Amino acid sequence: MEDKRHSKEAKEKNRLAHLGNKNPRWKGGISQRFIYQDYWKIRDEVIKSHPYCSFCNKTENIFCHHIDGNPKNNILNNLLVICRSCHNKIHSGMGGRIK
Ligand SMILES: [Zn+2]
Ligand SMILES: [Zn+2]
Repeated sequence: MEDKRHSKEAKEKNRLAHLGNKNPRWKGGISQRFIYQDYWKIRDEVIKSHPYCSFCNKTENIFCHHIDGNPKNNILNNLLVICRSCHNKIHSGMGGRIK
């Protein structure tokens, strides 16, 4: 089971890396814009259904954290509503990697 999931993720990563290499517009580009459009749309829905921080229940400065650290993985299960200060705490616990 574990292995299956892992290889699926690896495959997706490979695919994206491949796209990135092949597509000169990848950086600065069209692909990125689509990703962000998706993100804002999904983010709105997530926050609408859960308009407070998952950790401290604050309703200010909330947005979505990517649980797996992959900003392109905009599926509902990967997004966590969180406020800015809790977000900082999570990421300092992860070695300061901000996504
Ligand atoms: Zn919070
Ligand atoms: Zn985050």
